[in-house]
Amino acid sequence: MTDDRLSAYRSRRNFRRTREPQPVERPRRRAGGRRFVIQKHDASTLHYDFRLEVDGVLVSWAVPKGPSTDPSDKRLAIQTEDHPLDYAGFEGCIPSGEYGAGTVMVWDTGPYRNLRARKGRRSKSMEASLEDGLVEVWLDGGKLQGGYALKRMRGGDRPQWLLIKMDDEGADARRNPVSTEPDSVLSGRSLSRIAREEGEDDD
Ligand code: MN
Repeated sequence: MTDDRLSAYRSRRNFRRTREPQPVERPRRRAGGRRFVIQKHDASTLHYDFRLEVDGVLVSWAVPKGPSTDPSDKRLAIQTEDHPLDYAGFEGCIPSGEYGAGTVMVWDTGPYRNLRARKGRRSKSMEASLEDGLVEVWLDGGKLQGGYALKRMRGGDRPQWLLIKMDDEGADARRNPVSTEPDSVLSGRSLSRIAREEGEDDD
């Protein structure tokens, strides 16, 4: 199951060249519930990869402008291939010539909850929410807190969704964490410092 879902991830990468994690046979269960991660990725164009742990993989979207804390902003989120769980801790450089070449930073991470999981018949699992094209999650991150909705606008090969902050105590139209909190939530490093310390020149 997990293996099938990661075939697109595996087929795009040469693991002798990249330090990105290789999918493991049996993903380990993490303590403390399911996690989200947002990776800032300085590839051909800078974007933010928003990933949610669902059913043993990281379901993933590329968000060109990154997440907003303003509920009136709708941020385009293009669904990309599922990633292995171990990817959530990856910070470093993907070598030039490889798929997604560039520097990756863990911009924010933490546990999340499925807001559509309720008692009774209207409860929706994350899997059902993804199928429906409506995902509602509560993030407990270092930078982002509160509800976020993902709404699918268009299907196909690279489904297009919108990432929207829900109106709750984590909402704040005056904050702009993408620009005011640019560094890694894990290591405190900037993209350029990660590139310097983990770049190909060090090999
Ligand atoms: Mn990316």
